[in-house]
Amino acid sequence: MPKCKNCYTRLKWSQILKANMSYSMTTCEHCGANHQITWFSRFLVTLLTTFPLIIFIFTLTPFTNVFLTLISGLAIACVGFLLTPFVVDYEEKHK
Ligand SMILES: [Zn+2]
Repeated sequence: MPKCKNCYTRLKWSQILKANMSYSMTTCEHCGANHQITWFSRFLVTLLTTFPLIIFIFTLTPFTNVFLTLISGLAIACVGFLLTPFVVDYEEKHK
């Protein structure tokens, strides 16, 4: 989980998840410093979210039903996305 680069307070999981959704800025609740996701972390978010989905849909699917495959694939993508706050890094951004 990323920490505030200013006061070293751990940023909240929900806060990071919300920021990851739109790659927007997040603010430290303790000192108010703004943080922006790094380019490498954006890449990680995309990888964690879409890679398992693509692998599942095109190779590992146990279903013959397209609808079931898509729903399961999306569920896997959601799980991947929920894990992204643990791997991303944020840098301090001055407005
Ligand atoms: Zn802070």
